[in-house]
Amino acid sequence: MTETTFIPHVIGSDEREASDGRSFDNIDPWTQRAVASVARGGPVDAAAAMAAARAAFDDGPWPLMSERERGVLLHRFADVMASHAEDLALADAHDMGRPIAAMRTFDVPRAIGMIRFFADHLALATADTYPMGPAFHAFTAYRPAGVVVAISPWNHPLMLGVWKIAAALTWGNTVVWKPAEDSPTSASLVGAYALEAGIPAGALNVVQGRGSEIGDALTSSAGADRITFTGSTATGRRVAEIAAKQLVPVTLELGGKGATIVLDDADLELAASTAARAVFNNTGQVCLAGTRVLVHNRVREAFMARFQAHAEALRVGDPFDAATDLGPLASQRQFERVSGYFDLAHDEGTVLLGGPGEGWTFTPTIVTDLDRRGRVWREEVFGPMAAVTGFDDLDEAVAAANDTDYGLTAVVFTESTRLAHTIARRLRSGTVWVNCYQVRDLRAPIGGPGSSGIGREGGDFSREFFTEPQAVFLST
Ligand code: NAD
Repeated sequence: MTETTFIPHVIGSDEREASDGRSFDNIDPWTQRAVASVARGGPVDAAAAMAAARAAFDDGPWPLMSERERGVLLHRFADVMASHAEDLALADAHDMGRPIAAMRTFDVPRAIGMIRFFADHLALATADTYPMGPAFHAFTAYRPAGVVVAISPWNHPLMLGVWKIAAALTWGNTVVWKPAEDSPTSASLVGAYALEAGIPAGALNVVQGRGSEIGDALTSSAGADRITFTGSTATGRRVAEIAAKQLVPVTLELGGKGATIVLDDADLELAASTAARAVFNNTGQVCLAGTRVLVHNRVREAFMARFQAHAEALRVGDPFDAATDLGPLASQRQFERVSGYFDLAHDEGTVLLGGPGEGWTFTPTIVTDLDRRGRVWREEVFGPMAAVTGFDDLDEAVAAANDTDYGLTAVVFTESTRLAHTIARRLRSGTVWVNCYQVRDLRAPIGGPGSSGIGREGGDFSREFFTEPQAVFLST
């Protein structure tokens, strides 16, 4: 890796420091040492990036390019990303402790695949025409929306950011992307790779800094045509309030507290191994996690023995050790947050397994006998903590699963197809996985109701959001 010592903004064609020269340290959560300093942007930097994006939209070639031209550049962008795959893998591994092996095999290929997917989606997308007889020709055109503000979290920094910018760019928008302050590196690299690939200057701008400073300045600036936000429910609410005042369309992908439901006819080995992934993957820092585990009491003992064995088999430690399954929590703040819930778990239930480990690591934790009104059961821990309770029939399981402010995902284990359909229909959940976890198709909607957010992204859903559909009527 080229040694990264300063993480800049990428505005227009320039890599820049903050306008007032301020910076902050980027801390590697495994070594707990600073690996770089980061531009600490504020309102002036936000305004510069918004102006660059506006100029690239109003004057630049990007929104006016044909689908084919834009698709070629997007594929070249993906090629350039692929040629720097190892730097991207190292970036998130250092910034938030994601195991390097997972970066190489999962996050980086998925991020590159997202750019290719949207480029192909653009090439294959059709639009409606409306037969109106010989007098008129009527059709829908999907015009670029304009300048998109994209704000992303630190838990899968590369993947979750690229998901937004790839869709926004594809549909002809220009973008200002602000990654999370705990995971800045990959975004600035991606901004530079876009320029290297020949994406016009100003089409993708990256700004660095704190959410309360440059993040707030971006959403509050009057120049955004769309805001796409992934992060916490509290920040999402604030972003939505600001967007509402300006009537700017917004998508919010927020928190989750997904249910994992194990019915009494489930393949218990599959259920246990998959549930362990659904709870502990990425050290539990996944909004799509299925951390409320509901097990039919008839199979509870047999499931728990297997589930515990899978949890215990996970190796926690150095993200740069190829054998590590779970790196540290992403930051000291995260470590303290999860430790707080761990303390609470002793009051609200029985801690079967797990707890704080070396440094900011946290070993897979299982808490049973929980009160379903308690905080550990109801709140998003965002750490490797399974909250387990039993149930006696399907109605109880569905009611308990739906008894949440969130609604992002649910995971169900049953061997009955009929039951799978029934339960999916009854779950208030943006995604339902049956006998699997984290299977994605980028055409499918992602998002969820309630405190999990507003709107959906993915395939045609992204096109709807990132364009202004225009009805054209032509008198012939
Ligand atoms: P966060 O809300 O603190 O930060 C998210 C992003 O918002 C960061 O880039 C941050 O700098 C920025 N931000 C903070 N304050 C801001 C403000 N006032 N104005 C504008 N931007 C601001 O969330 P986090 O703790 O970084 O991320 C974890 C959360 O994200 C979890 O709750 C998790 O469930 C959620 N998440 C959701 C999804 C999803 O797809 N639904 C995916 C990943 C993470």
